[in-house]
Amino acid sequence: MQATLTIDLGAICDNWRALDALSGPSVETAAVIKADAYGLGAATVGPALAAAGVKRFFVAQAEEAVTLRAALGPAPEIYNFSGFMAGDGEAITGHGMIPVLNSAAQVKAFAKSHAGHPCGIQLDSGMNRLGMEAVEAASVALDTAALKPDLVMSHLACADEPLHPMNAAQLAAFNAMSFALPARRKALSATGGILLGAPFHFNLTRPGIGLYGGLPFKNARPVVSLELPVIQVRDVLPGEAVGYGTTWRTTRPSKIATISSGYADGIHRAAKGFSLYAGPTPCPVVGRVSMDLLTVDVTDLKEVPPRLSLLNTTQTIDVLAEKAGTIGYEILTSLGGRYHRRYISC
Ligand SMILES: *Cc1c(COP(=O)(O)O)cnc(C)c1O
Repeated sequence: MQATLTIDLGAICDNWRALDALSGPSVETAAVIKADAYGLGAATVGPALAAAGVKRFFVAQAEEAVTLRAALGPAPEIYNFSGFMAGDGEAITGHGMIPVLNSAAQVKAFAKSHAGHPCGIQLDSGMNRLGMEAVEAASVALDTAALKPDLVMSHLACADEPLHPMNAAQLAAFNAMSFALPARRKALSATGGILLGAPFHFNLTRPGIGLYGGLPFKNARPVVSLELPVIQVRDVLPGEAVGYGTTWRTTRPSKIATISSGYADGIHRAAKGFSLYAGPTPCPVVGRVSMDLLTVDVTDLKEVPPRLSLLNTTQTIDVLAEKAGTIGYEILTSLGGRYHRRYISC
């Protein structure tokens, strides 16, 4: 039996509106729905956000742009962070993808084959991941000007740490580098940058994780809940071991529930000290996480319900991430393909 992942589209749209309200009326708030909307389903999340008023979307690969175009129809603009790569021609001319060019080589290649098509430019303000540094940007300044980029953007490395000196340094670098580049839209901020305040907003922001209920957007409405079916409940004598490697033993007469979900479903094997919830009551996960199964100590429950909850308003993606030594982003993008995805509409 499948577990049920419930995705609240109304909460996603509310989170977008709340992030949009954090910047001035002249600032447009786009939506990042790369990696299948952080695992939640771009073909469903995209149209919901478009209906809420999102006009510009960002993905990370041309194939994502093509899939998203089919779901969104012709109107919204779809930018691709990875820019212009071999084989992307059809996504650009056939599906209206706008590449965000991120190297001099990409600018030159795009100018040669797609002059006249819209594009964006990514500058590197210090992260050294994608985008052109000042000298590289200067080397293709003429080609860039001729392309009339629709967007100039950069990305912050430490926006989730408001006091990190990197934020001011990248802001200054982006201001200096983008000054000479004419573009209708300038964008520096993802979710974290929006929270850093107006100097970081320019006239377009690109939130992702905040839409999906994750930190650093503390005021986000939670978006996902996850209910896992109980396959069986067994009685275990004191001193017996549970699970692979006999890493956990009972110390009292116990009831152990075996749950139908495991690391193949994105429940990290490295996670320690997490629980499944029966209503408000936490039941500790004991023993190792298996590929398809979890074992849970339900001794203290009066009655074991048919399903236990892994993600809810108490054990959020960020609480679980902390226990797995990762971030909420990775909890979301790990959510497996075996869940039944149920959408609550706006
Ligand atoms: C993923 C990404 C975003 C969205 O970031 P969040 O932290 O999820 O808001 C924005 N811009 C770029 C370049 C990204 O790669």
